[in-house]
Amino acid sequence: MTSNPRVFASHGMESLSVLAGRDLLSPLRERWDCRVWEHARRPVPEEFKALAHPAEGLLCLLTDRVDQDLIQACPRLRAISSFSVGVDHIDLVAATDRGILVGNTPGVLTETTADLAFALLLAAARRVGEASDFLRRGEWAGGHWEIDAFVGKDLHGATLGIIGLGPIGQAVARRAQGFGLRVLGWSRSGREVPGVRGLALPELLAESDFVSVHVALAAETRGLLDARALAQMKPGAVLVNTARGGIVDEVALANALRSGHLGAVGLDVFAQEPAAGDHPLLEFPNAVLTPHIGSASIGTRIRMAELAVDNLVAGLDGHRMPQCANPEVVVKRN
Ligand code: NAP
Repeated sequence: MTSNPRVFASHGMESLSVLAGRDLLSPLRERWDCRVWEHARRPVPEEFKALAHPAEGLLCLLTDRVDQDLIQACPRLRAISSFSVGVDHIDLVAATDRGILVGNTPGVLTETTADLAFALLLAAARRVGEASDFLRRGEWAGGHWEIDAFVGKDLHGATLGIIGLGPIGQAVARRAQGFGLRVLGWSRSGREVPGVRGLALPELLAESDFVSVHVALAAETRGLLDARALAQMKPGAVLVNTARGGIVDEVALANALRSGHLGAVGLDVFAQEPAAGDHPLLEFPNAVLTPHIGSASIGTRIRMAELAVDNLVAGLDGHRMPQCANPEVVVKRN
């Protein structure tokens, strides 16, 4: 039995390490007794708890639930580092009460996630998925070039409403300006962003041809886009969500697509992930759906791994984490 402080990493980052050309977890392995989840499947909660129980440091993914029960089951835990910017899977209050530092990975994924939001916006507006599926099914062969096939919506000259003006919302606004969109924005604190006209949420929904969601998931934003809010959107409008699934009521969204009130959606995130194979939104050809790949570029995923590891090393060393989601926790030097 070693007496070294323990770290539990719920993912070995093997494929990313191959792409990076080095073991991304080596700063942890070199210093601590590092237990790493090495199976292709994800750990079930009981396995996760058993491996996390002796740990002082925890490296986790956004799909790992780090709730009060888990935190209570880890008496030595001092630092949690998540490979994500969102920390809605972590009970931040319970961690903060225990004086446990929580690190996350904002910033390094901002532009990459904004790119995906724009990809979904363009794909939904211009029916790229529907048209691609049509061609792949062989339905174009032997047919014609049709004058009205897959006609969609122009971005230029239209209005985009951005819900949440944090780093990713602002990065989407910059892209939208380049595409000739008029940009409206709403955020809880009324942030002022150059080139973005601030509006109350109901007005933003009523005026926008496209709406893109970029708030964090929190108690106040869960179900923010419910049936009532969706009904406030323009008929035929397009909704894109790359933030978190829980912000949009998926039943209401399916109803809005079924009734034709919404023209299309682009979703990278779902209330339950992975989304079920019979998810109600799969029936709609005008729903462009991706499996939570917002930050999925090689360079960004490597930078996220580096930042998540740096956060954990700093937390365990008793230094300020480079990116900390609960900076109110007093850092205790070793
Ligand atoms: P962020 O700091 O996570 O979110 C910033 C925005 O959320 C701000 O507008 C902020 O409002 C708002 N917000 C936070 N808590 C709120 C609350 N309780 N009530 C109302 N609004 C609240 O910054 P970000 O880096 O731009 O990321 C946005 C979200 O995108 C993340 O939280 C994450 O869930 C998601 N994300 C998804 C992917 C993906 O792969 N699809 C990748 C990266 C991030 P204020 O302006 O008032 O502070």
